[in-house]
Amino acid sequence: MSTSYDVINPATEQVVKNVAHLDLAATDDVIEKAAKAFLSWRHVTPGERARLLRSFSQVVSDHREELAQLEITNSGHTRSNALWEADNVANTLMYYAAAPERLFGRQIPVPGGIDITFKEPLGVVGVIVPWNFPMPIAGWGFAPALAAGNTVVLKPAEYTPLTAIRLGELALLAGIPDGVFNVLPGKGSVVGNRFVTHPLVRKVVFTGSTTVGKQIMVGCADQVKRLTLELGGKSSNIIFADADIAKAAAGAPGAVFDNAGQDCCSRSRILVQKSAFDSFMEHFEVAVKKFRVEDPQLATADMGPLISKKQLDVVESFLDEPIAFKGSAPSGAGYWMAPTVLLPKNTQARSWREEIFGPVVSVMVFEDEAEAIAMANDSEYGLSGSIWTRDVGRALRVSHGIDTGALSVNSNSSVRFWTPFGGFKQSGLGRELGPDALDSFTEVKNVFISHD
Ligand code: NAD
Repeated sequence: MSTSYDVINPATEQVVKNVAHLDLAATDDVIEKAAKAFLSWRHVTPGERARLLRSFSQVVSDHREELAQLEITNSGHTRSNALWEADNVANTLMYYAAAPERLFGRQIPVPGGIDITFKEPLGVVGVIVPWNFPMPIAGWGFAPALAAGNTVVLKPAEYTPLTAIRLGELALLAGIPDGVFNVLPGKGSVVGNRFVTHPLVRKVVFTGSTTVGKQIMVGCADQVKRLTLELGGKSSNIIFADADIAKAAAGAPGAVFDNAGQDCCSRSRILVQKSAFDSFMEHFEVAVKKFRVEDPQLATADMGPLISKKQLDVVESFLDEPIAFKGSAPSGAGYWMAPTVLLPKNTQARSWREEIFGPVVSVMVFEDEAEAIAMANDSEYGLSGSIWTRDVGRALRVSHGIDTGALSVNSNSSVRFWTPFGGFKQSGLGRELGPDALDSFTEVKNVFISHD
Protein backbone atom coordinates (compact mmCIF):
# COMPACT_ATOMS: atom_id res chain seq x y z
CA MET A 1 0.00 0.00 0.00
CA SER A 2 1.36 3.43 -0.95
CA THR A 3 1.82 6.08 1.72
CA SER A 4 2.66 9.75 1.62
CA TYR A 5 4.62 12.27 3.64
CA ASP A 6 4.02 15.89 4.63
CA VAL A 7 7.15 17.90 3.85
CA ILE A 8 7.58 20.63 6.48
CA ASN A 9 9.33 24.00 6.18
CA PRO A 10 11.66 23.89 9.22
CA ALA A 11 11.74 27.70 9.48
CA THR A 12 7.94 27.99 9.84
CA GLU A 13 6.72 24.45 10.72
CA GLN A 14 4.18 24.81 7.87
CA VAL A 15 3.43 21.94 5.49
CA VAL A 16 5.01 22.68 2.10
CA LYS A 17 3.74 19.71 0.13
CA ASN A 18 2.46 16.18 0.48
CA VAL A 19 4.75 13.75 -1.35
CA ALA A 20 3.65 10.25 -2.35
CA HIS A 21 5.96 7.45 -1.23
CA LEU A 22 6.68 4.48 -3.46
CA ASP A 23 5.83 1.05 -2.10
CA LEU A 24 7.79 -2.11 -2.81
CA ALA A 25 5.95 -3.01 -6.04
CA ALA A 26 6.35 0.52 -7.45
CA THR A 27 10.03 0.49 -6.47
CA ASP A 28 10.57 -2.79 -8.30
CA ASP A 29 8.84 -1.37 -11.40
CA VAL A 30 11.22 1.60 -11.51
CA ILE A 31 14.29 -0.59 -10.93
CA GLU A 32 13.19 -2.82 -13.84
CA LYS A 33 12.64 0.24 -16.01
CA ALA A 34 16.16 1.48 -15.16
CA ALA A 35 17.60 -1.95 -15.97
CA LYS A 36 15.90 -1.86 -19.36
CA ALA A 37 17.13 1.69 -20.04
CA PHE A 38 20.68 0.54 -19.21
CA LEU A 39 20.68 -1.73 -22.26
CA SER A 40 20.53 1.29 -24.56
CA TRP A 41 22.20 3.97 -22.35
CA ARG A 42 25.43 1.98 -22.13
CA HIS A 43 25.64 2.04 -25.93
CA VAL A 44 24.95 5.77 -26.37
CA THR A 45 28.15 7.00 -28.00
CA PRO A 46 30.60 8.77 -25.66
CA GLY A 47 30.21 12.08 -27.47
CA GLU A 48 26.43 11.94 -27.29
CA ARG A 49 26.43 10.95 -23.60
CA ALA A 50 28.79 13.86 -22.92
CA ARG A 51 26.49 16.22 -24.83
CA LEU A 52 23.45 15.04 -22.84
CA LEU A 53 25.27 15.58 -19.53
CA ARG A 54 26.32 19.08 -20.61
CA SER A 55 22.70 19.76 -21.53
CA PHE A 56 21.56 18.47 -18.10
CA SER A 57 24.14 20.75 -16.44
CA GLN A 58 22.89 23.74 -18.43
CA VAL A 59 19.24 23.04 -17.58
CA VAL A 60 20.13 22.83 -13.87
CA SER A 61 21.96 26.18 -14.17
CA ASP A 62 18.94 27.69 -15.90
CA HIS A 63 16.80 26.59 -12.90
CA ARG A 64 19.24 27.47 -10.10
CA GLU A 65 16.97 30.08 -8.54
CA GLU A 66 13.97 27.71 -8.54
CA LEU A 67 16.04 24.85 -7.09
CA ALA A 68 17.50 27.14 -4.44
CA GLN A 69 14.04 28.35 -3.44
CA LEU A 70 12.84 24.75 -3.10
CA GLU A 71 15.81 23.97 -0.83
CA ILE A 72 15.32 27.05 1.32
CA THR A 73 11.68 26.11 1.84
CA ASN A 74 12.18 22.38 2.24
CA SER A 75 15.45 22.28 4.22
CA GLY A 76 15.86 25.74 5.80
CA HIS A 77 19.16 26.26 4.00
CA THR A 78 20.37 29.83 3.73
CA ARG A 79 19.92 31.50 0.39
CA SER A 80 23.66 31.67 -0.30
CA ASN A 81 24.11 27.98 0.55
CA ALA A 82 21.12 26.89 -1.52
CA LEU A 83 22.40 28.74 -4.60
CA TRP A 84 25.85 27.20 -4.08
CA GLU A 85 24.23 23.76 -3.82
CA ALA A 86 22.28 24.15 -7.09
CA ASP A 87 25.47 25.37 -8.78
CA ASN A 88 27.36 22.42 -7.33
CA VAL A 89 24.99 20.00 -9.12
CA ALA A 90 25.48 21.86 -12.42
CA ASN A 91 29.26 21.97 -11.92
CA THR A 92 29.51 18.30 -10.97
CA LEU A 93 27.50 17.34 -14.06
CA MET A 94 29.72 19.53 -16.24
CA TYR A 95 32.89 18.06 -14.70
CA TYR A 96 31.74 14.48 -15.36
CA ALA A 97 30.40 15.40 -18.81
CA ALA A 98 34.08 15.31 -19.81
CA ALA A 99 34.37 11.70 -18.64
CA PRO A 100 32.58 9.60 -21.30
CA GLU A 101 35.08 10.72 -23.95
CA ARG A 102 38.04 10.08 -21.64
CA LEU A 103 37.14 6.79 -19.96
CA PHE A 104 40.44 5.26 -20.98
CA GLY A 105 41.45 1.66 -20.47
CA ARG A 106 45.09 0.52 -20.72
CA GLN A 107 47.22 -1.45 -23.11
CA ILE A 108 49.50 -3.70 -21.09
CA PRO A 109 52.64 -5.34 -22.57
CA VAL A 110 52.31 -9.13 -22.48
CA PRO A 111 53.92 -11.98 -24.45
CA GLY A 112 52.04 -13.58 -27.36
CA GLY A 113 49.54 -10.84 -28.09
CA ILE A 114 47.99 -7.61 -26.96
CA ASP A 115 46.32 -7.00 -23.65
CA ILE A 116 43.78 -4.24 -23.22
CA THR A 117 41.42 -3.20 -20.44
CA PHE A 118 37.91 -1.78 -20.75
CA LYS A 119 36.05 0.18 -18.09
CA GLU A 120 32.56 -1.27 -18.21
CA PRO A 121 29.50 0.26 -16.55
CA LEU A 122 27.90 -1.74 -13.75
CA GLY A 123 24.19 -1.49 -14.58
CA VAL A 124 21.62 0.12 -12.29
CA VAL A 125 23.19 2.20 -9.49
CA GLY A 126 21.12 2.97 -6.38
CA VAL A 127 21.90 6.30 -4.73
CA ILE A 128 20.56 6.84 -1.18
CA VAL A 129 20.73 10.46 0.00
CA PRO A 130 20.46 12.00 3.51
CA TRP A 131 18.56 15.19 4.37
CA ASN A 132 21.45 17.49 5.15
CA PHE A 133 22.67 18.32 1.62
CA PRO A 134 19.95 16.95 -0.67
CA MET A 135 21.24 18.41 -3.94
CA PRO A 136 25.04 18.10 -3.84
CA ILE A 137 25.09 14.60 -2.34
CA ALA A 138 22.63 13.38 -4.99
CA GLY A 139 24.78 14.91 -7.74
CA TRP A 140 28.02 13.39 -6.43
CA GLY A 141 26.37 10.00 -6.95
CA PHE A 142 24.34 10.38 -10.12
CA ALA A 143 26.71 12.53 -12.23
CA PRO A 144 29.69 10.13 -12.35
CA ALA A 145 27.35 7.10 -12.41
CA LEU A 146 25.56 8.36 -15.54
CA ALA A 147 28.82 9.49 -17.15
CA ALA A 148 30.24 5.98 -16.81
CA GLY A 149 27.21 4.53 -18.62
CA ASN A 150 25.10 3.35 -15.68
CA THR A 151 21.46 4.14 -15.10
CA VAL A 152 20.42 5.52 -11.71
CA VAL A 153 17.66 5.06 -9.16
CA LEU A 154 17.87 7.78 -6.52
CA LYS A 155 16.12 7.87 -3.16
CA PRO A 156 16.02 11.24 -1.42
CA ALA A 157 15.59 11.46 2.36
CA GLU A 158 12.00 11.51 3.64
CA TYR A 159 12.39 15.08 4.99
CA THR A 160 13.88 16.59 1.85
CA PRO A 161 12.65 15.11 -1.44
CA LEU A 162 11.66 18.27 -3.34
CA THR A 163 14.87 19.23 -5.14
CA ALA A 164 15.57 15.61 -6.11
CA ILE A 165 12.10 15.27 -7.63
CA ARG A 166 12.69 18.48 -9.61
CA LEU A 167 16.14 17.29 -10.76
CA GLY A 168 14.44 14.15 -12.13
CA GLU A 169 12.11 16.35 -14.20
CA LEU A 170 14.99 18.57 -15.35
CA ALA A 171 16.92 15.52 -16.57
CA LEU A 172 14.07 14.67 -18.93
CA LEU A 173 13.83 18.29 -20.05
CA ALA A 174 17.55 18.17 -20.87
CA GLY A 175 17.02 15.13 -23.10
CA ILE A 176 18.29 12.38 -20.76
CA PRO A 177 16.25 9.38 -22.00
CA ASP A 178 13.33 8.17 -19.91
CA GLY A 179 14.37 5.48 -17.40
CA VAL A 180 18.04 6.56 -17.23
CA PHE A 181 17.73 8.80 -14.16
CA ASN A 182 14.87 7.94 -11.80
CA VAL A 183 13.91 9.59 -8.51
CA LEU A 184 11.99 7.43 -6.03
CA PRO A 185 10.70 9.24 -2.93
CA GLY A 186 10.03 6.82 -0.12
CA LYS A 187 11.09 5.28 3.14
CA GLY A 188 14.58 4.02 3.81
CA SER A 189 13.21 0.72 5.05
CA VAL A 190 11.22 0.23 1.83
CA VAL A 191 12.82 1.96 -1.18
CA GLY A 192 16.36 2.26 0.22
CA ASN A 193 16.40 -1.30 1.47
CA ARG A 194 15.13 -2.55 -1.89
CA PHE A 195 18.20 -1.04 -3.58
CA VAL A 196 20.22 -3.30 -1.28
CA THR A 197 18.18 -6.47 -1.90
CA HIS A 198 17.14 -6.15 -5.56
CA PRO A 199 19.52 -8.17 -7.76
CA LEU A 200 19.22 -5.74 -10.69
CA VAL A 201 20.75 -2.93 -8.60
CA ARG A 202 24.47 -3.60 -9.04
CA LYS A 203 25.84 -0.89 -6.79
CA VAL A 204 24.67 1.18 -3.83
CA VAL A 205 25.99 4.65 -3.02
CA PHE A 206 24.90 5.48 0.51
CA THR A 207 25.40 8.71 2.40
CA GLY A 208 23.96 8.89 5.89
CA SER A 209 24.46 7.71 9.41
CA THR A 210 27.13 5.19 10.34
CA THR A 211 24.48 2.95 11.94
CA VAL A 212 22.41 2.61 8.77
CA GLY A 213 25.59 2.44 6.65
CA LYS A 214 26.71 -0.65 8.57
CA GLN A 215 23.32 -2.34 7.99
CA ILE A 216 23.60 -1.59 4.28
CA MET A 217 27.12 -3.02 4.17
CA VAL A 218 25.86 -6.24 5.73
CA GLY A 219 22.93 -6.35 3.27
CA CYS A 220 25.15 -5.76 0.25
CA ALA A 221 27.40 -8.68 1.24
CA ASP A 222 24.64 -11.12 0.27
CA GLN A 223 25.09 -10.30 -3.44
CA VAL A 224 28.66 -9.00 -3.15
CA LYS A 225 27.09 -5.74 -4.26
CA ARG A 226 29.45 -2.82 -4.96
CA LEU A 227 29.16 -0.15 -2.30
CA THR A 228 30.33 3.37 -1.55
CA LEU A 229 29.66 4.67 1.97
CA GLU A 230 29.87 8.28 3.13
CA LEU A 231 29.06 8.27 6.85
CA GLY A 232 29.43 10.33 9.99
CA GLY A 233 32.27 12.53 11.21
CA LYS A 234 33.82 14.16 14.27
CA SER A 235 36.36 16.41 12.68
CA SER A 236 38.94 18.65 14.30
CA ASN A 237 39.87 22.24 13.71
CA ILE A 238 43.45 22.42 15.02
CA ILE A 239 44.84 25.85 15.77
CA PHE A 240 48.54 26.21 16.48
CA ALA A 241 49.88 29.24 18.36
CA ASP A 242 51.90 30.37 15.33
CA ALA A 243 48.74 30.67 13.18
CA ASP A 244 46.94 33.86 12.24
CA ILE A 245 44.72 33.50 15.31
CA ALA A 246 42.29 36.26 14.32
CA LYS A 247 41.72 34.63 10.91
CA ALA A 248 41.37 31.12 12.36
CA ALA A 249 38.84 32.39 14.93
CA ALA A 250 36.87 34.38 12.35
CA GLY A 251 36.51 31.26 10.19
CA ALA A 252 35.74 28.81 13.02
CA PRO A 253 31.96 29.51 13.33
CA GLY A 254 31.39 28.81 9.63
CA ALA A 255 33.49 25.63 9.91
CA VAL A 256 31.03 24.12 12.38
CA PHE A 257 27.76 26.09 12.30
CA ASP A 258 27.32 26.23 8.52
CA ASN A 259 24.08 24.41 7.60
CA ALA A 260 23.24 24.59 11.32
CA GLY A 261 26.06 22.13 11.99
CA GLN A 262 24.22 19.45 10.03
CA ASP A 263 27.29 18.70 8.01
CA CYS A 264 29.29 15.48 8.09
CA CYS A 265 32.45 17.60 7.65
CA SER A 266 31.62 20.04 10.41
CA ARG A 267 34.64 20.79 12.61
CA SER A 268 32.83 20.09 15.87
CA ARG A 269 36.07 19.76 17.86
CA ILE A 270 38.31 22.79 18.16
CA LEU A 271 41.82 22.09 19.45
CA VAL A 272 43.78 25.19 20.43
CA GLN A 273 47.44 25.25 21.45
CA LYS A 274 47.54 26.26 25.12
CA SER A 275 49.53 29.48 24.71
CA ALA A 276 47.00 30.81 22.14
CA PHE A 277 43.83 29.75 23.99
CA ASP A 278 42.87 33.10 25.57
CA SER A 279 43.51 35.08 22.41
CA PHE A 280 41.59 32.55 20.27
CA MET A 281 38.57 32.46 22.59
CA GLU A 282 38.37 36.25 22.67
CA HIS A 283 38.22 36.48 18.88
CA PHE A 284 36.01 33.39 18.61
CA GLU A 285 33.37 34.82 20.97
CA VAL A 286 33.11 37.96 18.83
CA ALA A 287 32.74 35.84 15.67
CA VAL A 288 30.09 33.52 17.20
CA LYS A 289 28.02 36.48 18.41
CA LYS A 290 28.19 38.01 14.91
CA PHE A 291 27.04 34.76 13.25
CA ARG A 292 23.53 35.59 12.00
CA VAL A 293 20.87 32.97 12.66
CA GLU A 294 17.75 34.21 10.92
CA ASP A 295 15.15 33.65 8.20
CA PRO A 296 17.12 31.64 5.62
CA GLN A 297 15.49 33.62 2.80
CA LEU A 298 17.50 36.69 3.86
CA ALA A 299 20.72 37.27 1.93
CA THR A 300 22.40 38.14 5.27
CA ALA A 301 21.61 34.78 6.95
CA ASP A 302 24.62 32.72 8.03
CA MET A 303 22.49 29.92 9.47
CA GLY A 304 18.86 28.79 9.33
CA PRO A 305 16.87 26.37 11.51
CA LEU A 306 17.59 22.70 12.14
CA ILE A 307 15.76 20.21 9.94
CA SER A 308 13.23 18.89 12.48
CA LYS A 309 12.00 18.94 16.07
CA LYS A 310 13.51 15.50 16.49
CA GLN A 311 16.95 16.74 15.41
CA LEU A 312 16.64 19.79 17.67
CA ASP A 313 15.88 17.55 20.67
CA VAL A 314 18.87 15.32 19.93
CA VAL A 315 21.23 18.29 19.61
CA GLU A 316 19.91 19.99 22.76
CA SER A 317 20.63 16.81 24.73
CA PHE A 318 24.35 17.68 24.38
CA LEU A 319 24.01 20.92 26.31
CA ASP A 320 24.62 19.34 29.73
CA GLU A 321 28.29 20.32 29.70
CA PRO A 322 29.91 23.67 30.67
CA ILE A 323 28.98 26.37 28.13
CA ALA A 324 31.63 28.99 27.26
CA PHE A 325 29.25 31.25 25.31
CA LYS A 326 26.38 31.20 22.83
CA GLY A 327 25.21 33.13 19.79
CA SER A 328 21.59 34.03 19.26
CA ALA A 329 18.62 32.59 17.38
CA PRO A 330 15.02 33.64 16.61
CA SER A 331 12.21 32.43 18.85
CA GLY A 332 8.73 31.33 17.80
CA ALA A 333 7.84 28.86 15.06
CA GLY A 334 10.72 26.93 13.52
CA TYR A 335 13.42 24.60 14.81
CA TRP A 336 15.87 27.29 15.89
CA MET A 337 18.91 26.92 18.03
CA ALA A 338 21.63 29.37 19.00
CA PRO A 339 25.20 28.35 18.09
CA THR A 340 26.77 27.06 21.29
CA VAL A 341 30.38 26.66 22.41
CA LEU A 342 31.13 24.00 25.05
CA LEU A 343 34.19 23.45 27.22
CA PRO A 344 34.10 19.71 27.94
CA LYS A 345 35.94 18.58 31.07
CA ASN A 346 37.85 15.81 29.31
CA THR A 347 38.07 13.77 26.10
CA GLN A 348 35.52 11.25 27.40
CA ALA A 349 32.74 13.85 27.33
CA ARG A 350 29.85 12.93 25.02
CA SER A 351 30.11 16.18 23.10
CA TRP A 352 33.78 15.45 22.39
CA ARG A 353 33.21 11.90 21.16
CA GLU A 354 29.83 11.77 19.39
CA GLU A 355 28.72 13.33 16.14
CA ILE A 356 26.24 16.02 17.23
CA PHE A 357 25.00 17.15 13.80
CA GLY A 358 23.89 20.53 15.12
CA PRO A 359 25.32 23.98 15.97
CA VAL A 360 27.41 22.88 18.95
CA VAL A 361 31.19 22.90 19.15
CA SER A 362 33.59 21.74 21.87
CA VAL A 363 36.92 23.41 22.57
CA MET A 364 39.95 21.85 24.28
CA VAL A 365 43.62 22.76 24.58
CA PHE A 366 46.73 20.82 23.57
CA GLU A 367 50.41 21.30 24.36
CA ASP A 368 52.28 20.25 21.23
CA GLU A 369 52.03 18.74 17.76
CA ALA A 370 52.12 15.14 18.97
CA GLU A 371 49.27 15.73 21.41
CA ALA A 372 47.19 17.53 18.76
CA ILE A 373 47.53 14.58 16.35
CA ALA A 374 46.74 12.05 19.09
CA MET A 375 43.64 13.98 20.19
CA ALA A 376 42.38 14.39 16.62
CA ASN A 377 42.88 10.68 15.91
CA ASP A 378 41.14 9.61 19.11
CA SER A 379 37.87 8.95 17.28
CA GLU A 380 36.21 6.16 15.32
CA TYR A 381 35.58 8.73 12.59
CA GLY A 382 37.99 10.30 10.09
CA LEU A 383 36.27 12.47 7.53
CA SER A 384 37.71 16.00 7.40
CA GLY A 385 39.55 18.61 9.43
CA SER A 386 41.53 21.85 9.41
CA ILE A 387 45.05 22.79 10.46
CA TRP A 388 45.98 26.42 11.15
CA THR A 389 49.70 27.20 11.21
CA ARG A 390 52.20 29.41 9.39
CA ASP A 391 54.82 26.63 9.52
CA VAL A 392 54.76 24.64 6.24
CA GLY A 393 56.71 21.72 7.68
CA ARG A 394 54.27 21.45 10.57
CA ALA A 395 51.31 21.63 8.19
CA LEU A 396 52.72 18.69 6.22
CA ARG A 397 53.64 16.62 9.30
CA VAL A 398 50.23 17.08 10.86
CA SER A 399 48.46 16.41 7.53
CA HIS A 400 50.31 13.08 7.31
CA GLY A 401 49.59 12.33 10.96
CA ILE A 402 45.83 12.74 10.96
CA ASP A 403 43.75 9.74 9.85
CA THR A 404 41.10 11.57 7.89
CA GLY A 405 40.00 11.80 4.26
CA ALA A 406 39.88 15.54 3.52
CA LEU A 407 42.09 18.11 5.24
CA SER A 408 42.45 21.86 4.76
CA VAL A 409 45.41 23.96 5.82
CA ASN A 410 44.60 27.58 6.76
CA SER A 411 41.12 27.04 5.32
CA ASN A 412 37.95 25.20 6.31
CA SER A 413 36.75 23.96 2.95
CA SER A 414 36.42 20.20 2.47
CA VAL A 415 34.63 19.64 -0.78
CA ARG A 416 35.59 20.50 -4.33
CA PHE A 417 34.12 18.56 -7.24
CA TRP A 418 37.62 18.27 -8.77
CA THR A 419 39.11 16.36 -5.81
CA PRO A 420 38.38 13.07 -4.03
CA PHE A 421 36.12 13.08 -0.98
CA GLY A 422 35.50 10.32 1.55
CA GLY A 423 36.34 8.99 4.95
CA PHE A 424 38.88 6.95 6.88
CA LYS A 425 37.77 4.46 9.56
CA GLN A 426 34.01 4.50 10.27
CA SER A 427 33.46 7.65 8.21
CA GLY A 428 33.12 5.64 5.05
CA LEU A 429 34.35 3.41 2.29
CA GLY A 430 35.52 4.51 -1.15
CA ARG A 431 35.83 7.99 -2.61
CA GLU A 432 33.41 10.29 -4.37
CA LEU A 433 34.16 13.23 -6.69
CA GLY A 434 37.37 14.03 -8.52
CA PRO A 435 38.98 11.69 -11.02
CA ASP A 436 38.75 8.68 -8.64
CA ALA A 437 34.96 8.44 -8.52
CA LEU A 438 34.67 6.95 -12.01
CA ASP A 439 36.55 3.86 -10.85
CA SER A 440 33.80 3.06 -8.40
CA PHE A 441 31.13 3.19 -11.14
CA THR A 442 32.95 0.85 -13.53
CA GLU A 443 34.41 -2.64 -13.55
CA VAL A 444 37.77 -3.27 -15.18
CA LYS A 445 37.55 -5.94 -17.88
CA ASN A 446 40.78 -7.45 -19.15
CA VAL A 447 40.94 -8.74 -22.76
CA PHE A 448 43.87 -10.62 -24.25
CA ILE A 449 44.10 -10.83 -28.06
CA SER A 450 46.47 -13.47 -29.34
CA HIS A 451 48.94 -12.64 -32.12
CA ASP A 452 48.26 -16.04 -33.67
P1 NAD B 1 20.13 8.17 7.84
O1 NAD B 1 21.19 7.13 7.87
O2 NAD B 1 19.04 8.08 8.83
O3 NAD B 1 19.41 8.22 6.42
C1 NAD B 1 20.12 8.42 5.21
C2 NAD B 1 19.29 7.86 4.07
O4 NAD B 1 19.20 6.45 4.22
C3 NAD B 1 17.85 8.38 4.01
O5 NAD B 1 17.48 8.55 2.66
C4 NAD B 1 17.08 7.24 4.64
O6 NAD B 1 15.75 7.18 4.20
C5 NAD B 1 17.86 6.03 4.15
N1 NAD B 1 17.70 4.83 4.98
C6 NAD B 1 17.37 4.75 6.29
N2 NAD B 1 17.30 3.46 6.67
C7 NAD B 1 17.61 2.71 5.59
C8 NAD B 1 17.73 1.30 5.34
N3 NAD B 1 17.53 0.43 6.32
N4 NAD B 1 18.08 0.90 4.11
C9 NAD B 1 18.33 1.78 3.14
N5 NAD B 1 18.21 3.11 3.28
C10 NAD B 1 17.88 3.58 4.51
O7 NAD B 1 20.92 9.55 7.93
P2 NAD B 1 20.33 11.02 7.96
O8 NAD B 1 19.82 11.24 9.34
O9 NAD B 1 19.43 11.27 6.81
O10 NAD B 1 21.65 11.89 7.69
C11 NAD B 1 22.51 12.28 8.68
C12 NAD B 1 23.77 11.42 8.70
O11 NAD B 1 24.38 11.42 7.43
C13 NAD B 1 24.81 11.93 9.64
O12 NAD B 1 25.32 10.88 10.42
C14 NAD B 1 25.91 12.47 8.74
O13 NAD B 1 27.18 12.47 9.27
C15 NAD B 1 25.78 11.61 7.57
N6 NAD B 1 26.31 12.27 6.40
C16 NAD B 1 27.52 11.87 5.88
C17 NAD B 1 28.08 12.50 4.79
C18 NAD B 1 29.39 12.10 4.21
O14 NAD B 1 29.68 12.45 3.09
N7 NAD B 1 30.20 11.34 4.91
C19 NAD B 1 27.38 13.53 4.16
C20 NAD B 1 26.16 13.91 4.69
C21 NAD B 1 25.63 13.25 5.80
